[in-house]
Amino acid sequence: MWDIITPLFKEIHEDLTDELKYLKLKHEIKDSRELIERLAARAKLDPLSEEFSQHLDKNDKLSHLREEFSIPKSSEVTLNGVVSLNPNEPSVYFCGNSLGLMPKRARILVNQELDVWAKSGVNGHFTHPHNRPWVSIDDTVVEKMAEVVGAKPIEIAVMNTLTSNLHLIMASFYTPKKHRNKILIEAKAFPSDQYAVESQIKFHGYDPATTLIKVNPPPGEYIINLNDILNIIEKEGSSIALVLFSGVHYYSGQFFKMKKITAAAKKKGCIVGFDLSHAAGNVVLKLHKWNVDFAVWCSYKYLNSGPGGIAGIFIHEKHAHDFNRPRFAGWWGSDRRSRFQMDKPFNPIPGAGGFQVSNPSVLNTISLLASLDVFAQTSMVQLRAKSILLTGYLDYLLDKQLNGLGYKNITPRDPHQRGCQISLMIDEDKLEKVINGLNSYGVVVDERTPDCIRVAPNPMYNSFSDVFRFVKALKIIMGNLGFKFETKK
Ligand SMILES: *Cc1c(COP(=O)(O)O)cnc(C)c1O
Repeated sequence: MWDIITPLFKEIHEDLTDELKYLKLKHEIKDSRELIERLAARAKLDPLSEEFSQHLDKNDKLSHLREEFSIPKSSEVTLNGVVSLNPNEPSVYFCGNSLGLMPKRARILVNQELDVWAKSGVNGHFTHPHNRPWVSIDDTVVEKMAEVVGAKPIEIAVMNTLTSNLHLIMASFYTPKKHRNKILIEAKAFPSDQYAVESQIKFHGYDPATTLIKVNPPPGEYIINLNDILNIIEKEGSSIALVLFSGVHYYSGQFFKMKKITAAAKKKGCIVGFDLSHAAGNVVLKLHKWNVDFAVWCSYKYLNSGPGGIAGIFIHEKHAHDFNRPRFAGWWGSDRRSRFQMDKPFNPIPGAGGFQVSNPSVLNTISLLASLDVFAQTSMVQLRAKSILLTGYLDYLLDKQLNGLGYKNITPRDPHQRGCQISLMIDEDKLEKVINGLNSYGVVVDERTPDCIRVAPNPMYNSFSDVFRFVKALKIIMGNLGFKFETKK
């Protein structure tokens, strides 16, 4: 990939720091559809041709990462009695925003742990043939996880699952007072987050109807204007205890301007937290630098840790030694040296580690490690560069091949305001036919009834040919549903 974008923005390829590459990327790519046309012109290929998709794959410097994953065959992903048209072809798996594919390494590592368990029993906690004693199993993943979200190791812990962590961290960081008790959240947040937030408000004796402020998109739209968020923070900031946003919205795919939201809210003295379930492993994050107070995320989406995998938390370093906040403590958050001395009082580990409660699941932690080992072969900046092209290519082909017929793209068109996901609204009466049709072509997307599909080409294991196959299949399906297309020039 670098080779073909190098002439367009040379420095991304070169030996700059990740930080500089990232800035360059943001600066150079304004319109990903225009970028696709420039690349096709340079290669002297028709941007709508299959050949062009193959050209992009050939030049993709990250294409080897696909080999690290088990890609299901088309026949293995059919549902609802759908008959696979090309059963032996690899599926086009665009559902990594719901459950990331399995890194092959996960099976090896998990089997190793099962062997240690079988042969050593409890001793595996302390002596371990692969040098991963269970008592400190989280040490294997913390640094790699920190790298993925732009944090220092002291700011990261892996523990529990997402919603439980949201509750635990809110217990410490949502401490409403009489004149500052509100929570600001985006409208239509993921239901679990809404339930968590409402129940926390009630737990403190307040009424969600007056205490929870939701930022809405303009009527009839899906994208929330940054200015609307900033205006509310400006007007109501002094009564807001916590600004809690998602990094990337699970439904619309909007990537919120986290740095600007954080800066505005910090200026007003609010605590700022993010749910990064759809952002971690998807977009470049700089949690430490952006001065975010806390963040939580699950790891089974873009972080490919497996169903129900162990989740991550970020607590900014500035809170590392603040032991005055309330906290729901457990033995795993207590000083390691005295952890097993049952008569010792709770002595919190400085940083995120002090928020751990229980000893972590080794099998879950190790399957997360398998995925983070793949992340460690590249960087979030490289993944993001490919992602911008890959999703930009999807956006481009949809536009040109389907002319906007049969669907409405509700995700921001600006590549810097979205991650890899594009959400398409489909008429309610057609959704099932579209899903089953795609399924027969071996395409897996995420279905949000009654009228939305979320399409997420993952730069780690998806190819440009995958995108080409998806759009081709969707066009045939929409054609069969009666839509007539002309190719836009
Ligand atoms: C996936 C997702 C969840 C799921 O929560 P769990 O506690 O992991 O079951 C919650 N919130 C958001 C925003 C999500 O994307």
